[in-house]
Amino acid sequence: MFKLGSNPATNREMALLIVDDMPDNIGVLRGMLLPHGHQLFVATSGQGALNVAAQVPLDLILLDVMMPGMDGFETCRRLKENHLTRETPIIFITAKTDTQDIVEGFNLGAADYINKPLRMEEALARIQTQLQIRSYILEQREQAERMRAIVNNMAEGLLIIEADGRIQSSNPAADYLFGYAPDQLHGHSIFALLDTASSQEYRQYFDRITHDGTAMQTQQHGSREVQIKHHSGAMLNVDLSIMPMFVRQPLFVGLLHDITRHKLSEHALRREASMDALTNVANRRHFDSCLDNAWQSALENAHEISLILLDVDHFKHYNDALGHQAGDRCLQQVAQVLRTVALSQDALVARYGGEEFVILLSSTGLDDAHALACQIQAHIEARQLPHPASTCSAWVTVSIGVCSLQPNAAMSSELLFLNADQAMYRAKESGRNQVCTELSSTEKSA
Ligand code: GH3
Ligand code: MG
Ligand code: MG
Repeated sequence: MFKLGSNPATNREMALLIVDDMPDNIGVLRGMLLPHGHQLFVATSGQGALNVAAQVPLDLILLDVMMPGMDGFETCRRLKENHLTRETPIIFITAKTDTQDIVEGFNLGAADYINKPLRMEEALARIQTQLQIRSYILEQREQAERMRAIVNNMAEGLLIIEADGRIQSSNPAADYLFGYAPDQLHGHSIFALLDTASSQEYRQYFDRITHDGTAMQTQQHGSREVQIKHHSGAMLNVDLSIMPMFVRQPLFVGLLHDITRHKLSEHALRREASMDALTNVANRRHFDSCLDNAWQSALENAHEISLILLDVDHFKHYNDALGHQAGDRCLQQVAQVLRTVALSQDALVARYGGEEFVILLSSTGLDDAHALACQIQAHIEARQLPHPASTCSAWVTVSIGVCSLQPNAAMSSELLFLNADQAMYRAKESGRNQVCTELSSTEKSA
């Protein structure tokens, strides 16, 4: 709280200007006001008053009406025309006591009208009342300015929304989020700026709240993730919370918090959790969950599913000969070949263990899977990555086992692995750097 007699905006004493062409009158008013600690300015003419008012921010002007030259009414008129002094309260202090004069004074924008000769206590009470009102107005204005500064500078978008969804005002953060110029959001419907599902939900919420006065007081629509339509047409993820308030009419305050960055990192985290860090293909965990889905889908739709299992030949020797780091680079290059070759297919490539990779082909039969495996084997050897310690080639090579089967309820997806592993084992046994296939055990026994 401010103390009476000080201007809360500047914390200085209240500044009063006494205007009278008679120095004696000025003396009386000064004598009355000085003990109250106000800052006093004086002028003996209308023009003099305008001059002081142009230089000093005043809180109250005590203005004589009858003065030579510019009279008090004209001085008042000019003060009210100037935006710097328009809001400074003016009290006429005059011997002109006709009702007509008093009315004219008020019509000119005077705050009060005191008759001469002065009844001191009454005059003082009237002056103090005007200073109190002035203090109150300044304090309100200061608070409003502080609020405006907060609203304009806050990182969250803020919307004031009418009961029919029309945006009444928005802060700069909200304008920015929606991609609109200042004031351009005004009049747009919030419902048109939200994704369809959220829009419907909020429409119902607005209807419910505006038709139920009691709900107005209490029901906040929590904070929830929605998509908003950016001016460019792009959809953005934001957290939106909406609170009802009642200010002469039902209104809603919307707070928007941009979560795009959070979303991106969430996406990056999810991606990271499913990727193998060294080779940038899927990791085993991600592969296993994909296999479950693919298996289920093949079972339900009665189609084939294929697995390619691939192991680098003599990789232990490779590491021994060229070092572990070279081994890592080699795995990266093998993975790159797999990614490139598998790109054209509906295939998932994963690193399943040390130098072992798998490729899952949903709805693909043995012929196509075998053809792809041969392509991979040829591509890897064609990269001509020197392998000085291999007994089967001068270059890095792979042995590949392929298995295809059509799942039935009695099988488990492990069978796919078992068979592909057996096929790969045969490829190793038969001299490495080759592709072997393994039909499902049911087909083998048929
Ligand atoms: P085979 O032809 O029978 O597959 O022989 P191999 O030497 O490739 O097979 P083995 O399983 O005996 O050795 C695999 C080697 O792979 C041993 C291990 O040190 C190496 N290895 C596993 N993971 C990594 C890795 O992330 N980086 C490197 N540089 N080497 C790895
Ligand atoms: Mg191995
Ligand atoms: Mg190996």
